[in-house]
Amino acid sequence: MADRDGVIWYDGKMCPWRDATTHVLTHTLHYGMGVFEGVRAYDAEQGTAIFRMRDHTDRLFRSAHILQMPMPFDKDTINQAQLDVVRENGLSSAYLRPMCFYGSEGMGIRADNLKVHVIVAAWEWGSYLGKENLEKGIRIRTSSYTRHHVNITMCKAKANGNYMNSMLALQEALTCGYDEAMLLDAEGYVAEGSGENIFIVRNGVLYTPDLTSALEGITRETIMTLAQEQGLEIREKRITRDEVYVADEAFFTGTAAEVTPIREVDNRTIGNGGRGPITETLQTLYFDQVHGRREDYPEWLSLVG
Ligand code: PMP
Repeated sequence: MADRDGVIWYDGKMCPWRDATTHVLTHTLHYGMGVFEGVRAYDAEQGTAIFRMRDHTDRLFRSAHILQMPMPFDKDTINQAQLDVVRENGLSSAYLRPMCFYGSEGMGIRADNLKVHVIVAAWEWGSYLGKENLEKGIRIRTSSYTRHHVNITMCKAKANGNYMNSMLALQEALTCGYDEAMLLDAEGYVAEGSGENIFIVRNGVLYTPDLTSALEGITRETIMTLAQEQGLEIREKRITRDEVYVADEAFFTGTAAEVTPIREVDNRTIGNGGRGPITETLQTLYFDQVHGRREDYPEWLSLVG
């Protein structure tokens, strides 16, 4: 990732990609206290556009607020930086990574007098869980790792250190021959994937876990909005793993994963063993929305220009 042409926005300036480095004593590298976002820009009908950019920036600021990291830039600056990196790297579609981290001014965990640095990088990134899986669906397993308890890390913050748990779960799933992990919360209820929210469909009703220990996904919220528009009933509730086993359909949502059907959980086939009809409808609506093929919610697209 480090050795390529292009520019990365770094503390207010465009920096050549290969020069966007930090010192080995960077505080966040040691302890994981940092916040970040994952955002996508799509090659939309109207031109390249970042999907729900302001909502991602709002979440970045909420994450920083939760961790008490003082943000050295305002939201408008971070929004402009995102538009600029996509344009200056000549990307027609992209994955964007804004991140805020502590510098190398000190190593104590009291973390006072540390400077907060901000980067925004953008690069081309295809379907996260495989293009063919958007149609075929993926096989997942219940993780042996528990999702964070709300008083161990802060689940509402998209914090760097939280992802050690995600990586352990994903590594385990991949090693065992599955595509993704399904993590349960500390009480044993379904929380989310390693980087996705989860939905199930049963008897035409959409269910998704409440947000106690899952990230407040922007794709999750988008799907709920689109589903409501279709007159679908949505219930946010505690979900057990066997409720997922007997679902008619299941799917993951996330900026990277978009809307990925789940065809098998813990070796049990879900529904028809492929992409279910409601999943397909919502997935189509989602892709139409992000590509600017719908007239609704124009405020969700920020044109790169
Ligand atoms: N849960 C976790 C743990 C994630 O990392 C992500 C990806 N940001 C999501 C859910 C989905 O969030 P979003 O739809 O905002 O990308």
